[in-house]
Amino acid sequence: MQFYSTNGLSPNASLEEVVMTGLAPDGGLYMPERIPVIPRAFFNNISEMSVSDIAYIVATTVLGDVIDAAELKQIVFDTFSFEIPLRKIDSDIYALELFHGPTLAFKDVGARFLARIISHFTRPGDKEVNVLVATSGDSGGAVATGFHKVPGVKVFVLYPERGLTAMQRNQFTSLGDNVYPIEIMGNFDDCQRLVKEAFVDKRLREEMNITSANSINVCRLLPQMFYYFYGYSQFLRNEDNPNPGKVVISVPCGNLGNLTAGLLAMRMGLPVSRFVAANNTNNSFTRYINEGIYEPMKPVRTIACAMDVGNPSNFSRILDIFGGDHEKIRQTLSGYSFTDEEISESMREIYQRDGYVMDPHGATAYRALRRDLKPGEKGIFLATAHPSKFPHAVGQATGVRQKENQVTRSRVTEHHPTPRITPSLPALKKILLTAT
Ligand SMILES: *Cc1c(COP(=O)(O)O)cnc(C)c1O
Repeated sequence: MQFYSTNGLSPNASLEEVVMTGLAPDGGLYMPERIPVIPRAFFNNISEMSVSDIAYIVATTVLGDVIDAAELKQIVFDTFSFEIPLRKIDSDIYALELFHGPTLAFKDVGARFLARIISHFTRPGDKEVNVLVATSGDSGGAVATGFHKVPGVKVFVLYPERGLTAMQRNQFTSLGDNVYPIEIMGNFDDCQRLVKEAFVDKRLREEMNITSANSINVCRLLPQMFYYFYGYSQFLRNEDNPNPGKVVISVPCGNLGNLTAGLLAMRMGLPVSRFVAANNTNNSFTRYINEGIYEPMKPVRTIACAMDVGNPSNFSRILDIFGGDHEKIRQTLSGYSFTDEEISESMREIYQRDGYVMDPHGATAYRALRRDLKPGEKGIFLATAHPSKFPHAVGQATGVRQKENQVTRSRVTEHHPTPRITPSLPALKKILLTAT
């Protein structure tokens, strides 16, 4: 398997190059050169299979020629060491709960897989790998936890000065060791831009091995395809009359990594009829779906803060999947955006009706699916974070006070003093080049 750049100017690259560099030298994002279709027979007994078994089959279909089968199996089993239950919410709607990993958000899946793939390609005595990650909330904790104490790797977490909850910040500032938090005096898009600038900076590239752990890294995306197949398998198990091929999947969208993974899963043969994209008021993507015009915007703060993204980095991958054809995109995707009040209203409604507590991101996807689903259709929405990660928003909407869990209790013991810098490349470079 080789990978091409969406900008089309860099040569194709191997998985190792792609994982170790993040972004293509021409500034494009890497995509798998072909998307193999899984044989139909796989779907005959998929409902009997575990998440690891399903993930292993999908992983070998994509990466079987790059990583030895036994090792790939181990990587996949280590990645999926937690439950991903599918819960029935309405008669026609299910929640796929992706938040039972160590940092209680779906990003654990991509981060754990990426950490293991990087270890796979790192040999003793190799130059240290420096992993950069910009976070709007959940990536930082997931990536830092996934890489914490991995030999030969340093992690730099760039986060905006405002917008993260205390718990989200603790998840990476409290680790120390090989994890270095950097506070950026700017918003998430500034953090993301800085990471991109660092990659195309010649001097940095010469002096150190840097890669990205954001969803621009293809190894964050690939494992996210796996749980779409698992969600479908549980759907078959749950439904007396599943009507294969008619299920609709709704995805809460920020940087569009999760949605890109879903679309790739569909290309691999996952029998879904279409996708629903859900935005908060940072709706440059759903506006593009509905109006055909893409205008990046300055992000505004919402209660679904992990989706406060004004210029989603995976937009170019989505265009690439559809050959830039807006009409085709509309046939597969519908898009909705909701205000904080609407998101809260859905959280409250579901809680009052049947006691189910949703986090604001999952609730955004729920609301979009509820709006979009036609009579006779069934749907799954991705519940991307545990409600206890957003105690304030959940409490305001439902009156439920979240129990303190393991992660909220971790105390802040800032092992490295956290530098606070202007969103400029020279300031970042100084830190990267002197971190010890
Ligand atoms: C990151 C995140 C999202 C957005 O996912 P993308 O892949 O960036 O579109 C949604 N919900 C939660 C809880 C997140 O952490």
